[in-house]
Amino acid sequence: MSKTIELPDGTPHTFTDAELERGEAMMARLREVEAALVDDTGQTAYSEQLLPCPFCGGRAWIQYWPYPDDMGYEARVVCGGCHVSTSRDYQSGRTTYLPTGEDITRLLAIEKAIQTWNRRA
Ligand SMILES: [Zn+2]
Repeated sequence: MSKTIELPDGTPHTFTDAELERGEAMMARLREVEAALVDDTGQTAYSEQLLPCPFCGGRAWIQYWPYPDDMGYEARVVCGGCHVSTSRDYQSGRTTYLPTGEDITRLLAIEKAIQTWNRRA
């Protein structure tokens, strides 16, 4: 069940079964991240995956923004109650899930920010 695709520079690349499995596991996680986003404005969103603030119990939200020229995404989580926040999590460059060509840069940055926040909660 290996799969061969053409890379952007035209050279063929074959994914092994193990690579495809790891990729599918990652995509399954990212689809959960995406499905849990609430009131996504394109710059901010709530997420059902975010735990309450460890300091005040408030509801937290995600801020995210792209770098110019496809240089990546940055995301952080901020508490709406006491405004404590995580430091910024980066996803540098543009990340494409090659078997489908899907751009997953934004979701990877958001997933990192959620993981950082939930470790503190
Ligand atoms: Zn708080």
